[in-house]
Amino acid sequence: TFKLNPNVASLPPYNAGMNIAVARNKTGRDDIAALASNENPYGCSPNVSKALAGIEPSRYSDPSCTSLRDALSGKLDIPANRIVIGNGSEEMIAAVSRAALRPFSTVLTVTPGFGLHEIEPRANGAKVVKYPMTADLRFDVVGLVAALRTKPSIFFLSSPSNPVGPALATEGLRHIIEAVPKETLFVLDEAYFEFCGADGPDGVRELETSGLAYVVLRTFSKAYGLAGLRVGYAIASDERVAAAISSAKTPFNVNAAAQLAAVAALEDEEWMRSAVAKVVAERERMARQVKALGYFAPESMTNFLFIDVSHDSGAAFDHFLSHGIIVKPWKEPGFETYIRVTVGLPAENDRFLDALAELKAGQS
Ligand code: PMP
Repeated sequence: TFKLNPNVASLPPYNAGMNIAVARNKTGRDDIAALASNENPYGCSPNVSKALAGIEPSRYSDPSCTSLRDALSGKLDIPANRIVIGNGSEEMIAAVSRAALRPFSTVLTVTPGFGLHEIEPRANGAKVVKYPMTADLRFDVVGLVAALRTKPSIFFLSSPSNPVGPALATEGLRHIIEAVPKETLFVLDEAYFEFCGADGPDGVRELETSGLAYVVLRTFSKAYGLAGLRVGYAIASDERVAAAISSAKTPFNVNAAAQLAAVAALEDEEWMRSAVAKVVAERERMARQVKALGYFAPESMTNFLFIDVSHDSGAAFDHFLSHGIIVKPWKEPGFETYIRVTVGLPAENDRFLDALAELKAGQS
């Protein structure tokens, strides 16, 4: 009989947030608040729709994403030949894994963490070790420094953390950088970088002088509001690493609309900064109310909160869905009472907070 690749056939499913149309169908409601996928509730810069009018659907997209790489190169002051653009940063997680791993390589990452940091290495036959966060859900820098002595082929770290929220402070990041062995590729996933503020830790800046082999991942899906168009990027320590990631992706991976949109979004940083400021203010308001209800939510430097609702997360999901709100329930052992909720528009956040208060009332 035909045999599938067991590394792939045994993969855990990626736990995607419920789709809005599915939620409409299930609940019979039109007013769905989609708070499961960390999207930008304010949409994207008006520059984007103007740029999209210029698309030529019949032409292949630029396989090297020249305009977008040049724009990022100028903004980040990193040579364009060290930047690779992906069909979402998730494609870059796949490409990095394919470029750096072989069967029986080991990968170190953190739990709770981002699903693809485990799924993609395992698809490539690697063994994944997930190092826990501290009991109060902060990065265990001392523990990670020790775990790095095992010299994993890749160390995947999401900071700010998805799903937990905190970012490593610059000092913690420096400790980790000092501990990463020369044999390891450090993949720092900064999908939520823009929500940390101007004086937050900047992985590219910290890693630039480290002498390590590294990749920093960033995305247009969150702060720039382009999740549906799928654009993310990898900034590599050197040309050799970038070329290998490039070889590991498919040739026309980023479609023409996505490339135009991302360039247009970058030209309107003002829009992005203003949307991020509104999201951050709402996040802080929500965090205060969640705490006032007596629930634990670790400090977040992202556009979401990870909340222990002291209730089975699946039942909590159903409760919120019955109010037309999609949240993401956690199933990982030890975190079955946690949900992750994205910061939405103020009215959506109010609905979430009301439904959370109702959940609380039902518990006491
Ligand atoms: N990394 C992290 C930590 C994320 O949270 C996400 C999105 N959920 C991604 C990568 C992938 O984002 P995208 O493919 O949309 O760029």
